[in-house]
Amino acid sequence: MVRRKHQPERTCIGCREVKHKRELIRVVRTPEGGVIVDPTGKANGRGAYVCKSDGCWQKSLSRGQLARALKLTLSQEEMVMLESLLKAELSKI
Ligand SMILES: [Zn+2]
Repeated sequence: MVRRKHQPERTCIGCREVKHKRELIRVVRTPEGGVIVDPTGKANGRGAYVCKSDGCWQKSLSRGQLARALKLTLSQEEMVMLESLLKAELSKI
């Protein structure tokens, strides 16, 4: 018997394409109001998903889509911090 795995799908906030969760990176607004990259997809808080692609990240950060999706304002420091975290994530692929 073949058990089909449920594959949750999410929309990338950069390109608006619907993809499988594992093709995306989750960013979470923590209950404390901070922002973290969540490679496990299990962190608590409001999450947004972006493709594992540099282009989508640049778009979602520079156009403020990430901040809007998470309903928060990103400071310059947080943007820089996120970019470096994401670069680290992307380099693992
Ligand atoms: Zn995308």
